[in-house]
Amino acid sequence: MSDERCLYRYSTVLMGSPILLKLPRHDEALASRVFQLIKRYEDLLTVNRASSQVMDINRAAGRHPVAVSRPVYQLIKCAKAASLAQDSAFNLAIGPLVKLWRIGFQGSRVPSGAEIAARLALTRPQDVALDDAAASVFLTQPGMEIDLGAIAKGYIADRVRDYLRQQGTDEALINLGGNVHTLGRWSVGLKKPFAADDALVGVMAVDGQSVVTSGVYERYFEQDGRRWHHILDPRSGYPLDNALQSVTVISADSLDGDIWTTLLYGLGVEKGCAILRQREDIEAIFVTKNRDVILSSQRRFRFSLLDADYRLTD
Ligand code: ADP
Ligand code: MG
Ligand code: MG
Repeated sequence: MSDERCLYRYSTVLMGSPILLKLPRHDEALASRVFQLIKRYEDLLTVNRASSQVMDINRAAGRHPVAVSRPVYQLIKCAKAASLAQDSAFNLAIGPLVKLWRIGFQGSRVPSGAEIAARLALTRPQDVALDDAAASVFLTQPGMEIDLGAIAKGYIADRVRDYLRQQGTDEALINLGGNVHTLGRWSVGLKKPFAADDALVGVMAVDGQSVVTSGVYERYFEQDGRRWHHILDPRSGYPLDNALQSVTVISADSLDGDIWTTLLYGLGVEKGCAILRQREDIEAIFVTKNRDVILSSQRRFRFSLLDADYRLTD
């Protein structure tokens, strides 16, 4: 493991999140090129600002298709496929519901049942029409909105990994506010849900993998004696409510990690583990509200539990 290495840390804030790059050598110029790369992709994909390619698509909803750059088109195509998978909790067209709840932003509140029903009708992934030849996207219903907030960081983390590799770097860690990607061997901490400090439930040893954690403790608000967090169930329009506190996915690509954290939130521990047993490429760590830590398998990483309040169970 590599904790004793002499490391150089470069940090900034982008996509509303702290960004951290760790390198084994001092290379300020490389760090600044990496941050510029992240910013360029953020500018294409964000829905939290007035202009981006995704915002152009949303503004043309119900009116006309919008041609976008190839990478944005490919990402949307991949997100649509994940949204159409059977029982998928992931939905790229969730935008109208995200905007209604405003979780993590000023003015969040529990909407009425009627408001939710009206918005649900505008979140059908089938209504995202794609044209491969033109690389264009058309939201066929007025009021529809694509939201790539669940996958933008993962997609960008993969682009940073590719860029660093191409620059001849074989040892680096990038943390995009919860999406960790690595080149070489690293130990990555698993955050303790709701802990005020940087307390860890455990730590995992990885080698070149992405580690993505999504948790109900990340962004939420409280109303009517309940906690309402930011991962919505596209079937009900309400935050996903189950036994889970966080899901961590270990995979080669961070985009897969992002999609799978959302899918696994929707599936829960039992169904999720059953599906992951059929897949060599995706592994997960579930943390439940009962403080159980459940590993789907440990082929590509080693997990060590650190916090005695939690227990490893099968
Ligand atoms: P974080 O922002 O903490 O990385 P996630 O990766 O879990 O969190 O993504 C949550 C964001 O994804 C939400 O803020 C919202 O923009 C969007 N989102 C919420 N529910 C869904 C869903 N069911 N499918 C796709 N995107 C979603
Ligand atoms: Mg995320
Ligand atoms: Mg995610």
